[in-house]
Amino acid sequence: MQKVRKVKGTKDLFGNEILNHNFIKNQFQKVCKSFNFKQIATPILEHCEVFTKSLGLSSDIVSKEMYNFVDQGDDNLVLRPEGTAAIARAVITNALEQENNKLFYHGPMFRREKPQAGRLRQFHQVGVEYIGSKNFLNDLEIILLAEKFLDSLGIRNKLVLQINSLGNSISRNAYNLALNKFLQKNINFLSDTSKERLSKNPLRILDSKEPKDQELIKESPDITKHLDEESRVFFENLINGLEKLQINFKINRFLVRGLDYYNHTAFEYITTEEKSQNTVLAGGRYDGLIRSLGGGELTGVGWAAGIERIVMKLERSIKCDSKKICFFSTNQNLDIEVLKIIKNTKFKNSIKINVINSGSLKKKFAKANKIGAYGCIIIGESEWESKKVIWKNFTTGKQELVNIDNIEEFFNKYF
Ligand code: ATP
Ligand code: MG
Repeated sequence: MQKVRKVKGTKDLFGNEILNHNFIKNQFQKVCKSFNFKQIATPILEHCEVFTKSLGLSSDIVSKEMYNFVDQGDDNLVLRPEGTAAIARAVITNALEQENNKLFYHGPMFRREKPQAGRLRQFHQVGVEYIGSKNFLNDLEIILLAEKFLDSLGIRNKLVLQINSLGNSISRNAYNLALNKFLQKNINFLSDTSKERLSKNPLRILDSKEPKDQELIKESPDITKHLDEESRVFFENLINGLEKLQINFKINRFLVRGLDYYNHTAFEYITTEEKSQNTVLAGGRYDGLIRSLGGGELTGVGWAAGIERIVMKLERSIKCDSKKICFFSTNQNLDIEVLKIIKNTKFKNSIKINVINSGSLKKKFAKANKIGAYGCIIIGESEWESKKVIWKNFTTGKQELVNIDNIEEFFNKYF
């Protein structure tokens, strides 16, 4: 019989890969909590309009990447393609529209894209939203949070922070007009997709990945020259703040986020190596979003990062779970002593114990490695006679003898 297959662009997570995902999520949660952000989890299913009304009909996500379907009750539903609009919906639904609501989330997102390395149809994001007040200090705070998060993963120095301003809606409209005029004049140099986009949303052409478009984009009018006083001051304050905090960045006037709801700040942490999958973390300000979904005049700023893309940047992928310890003996007669040690020891710090009690010694080691143990405690005959056990650390390969009376102390010190 033909074997069943997994869906294209999706992945089963297990072994080291899921350990990497968990490591990233743990670091993320720690940093978010230290900034007093609160967790929110919204459903994977949303009404289609949550995204059509917010992201804009001409965005890549809505126009070609959304998994939408009509259910048995005739509801038009989608598997959420991103987190921000869903959280804005949740803020409205649950009357969370107070100022300074600091939220973080993680979970799977769905987009029907062409699968490649770092581009999946079901992928995972971590993200933050700072909803409430229109203050450049909020933008600065979530960038600082991103800095700490990327630093905690040891990957900040592999990324460049690029930043731009789209200005307020007045500036954005003025720029759109100027850009439209320029692109209309040069329409023959545009790719077919961009020609189509020109009438709907010229700004999005700056986001194009087509080499043909990129040549022309270099010559396009400068967005920073179209910022009005309010927008210019907002951007200057942010830039000065970044300088004062000694956060490295580069202004990239071509950086526009692909979604309609952004204004003022837009930023991305990108790698220099790869081409189209080079954005690891991206975000910006979205002052009109909550209003576009029928809520109040509530501003916000946030970012999201792709877990799969972060994994690609980690120096050394996590090979083991640092709390998982195996216990076994070299001789069947000593198996009961293994259990006695476990009975008499108070293990702290969420140590996960795995007793291995079958197979040859070689098989026991192999099993401990296979389950991703950090190390193992071995009761060997000769060592046991002198009331000692062996501790072997799989990550460093080192081993040492531990007195059985000191096992508790050893674990408390070591973990
Ligand atoms: P790209 O330009 O690479 O398509 P995007 O602008 O569509 O990215 P966002 O909607 O801003 O991406 O999502 C934030 C982050 O989520 C991205 O920077 C990336 O790290 C990750 N991401 C987006 N789409 C995918 C995908 N299909 N597979 C894996 N990660 C993704
Ligand atoms: Mg995309």
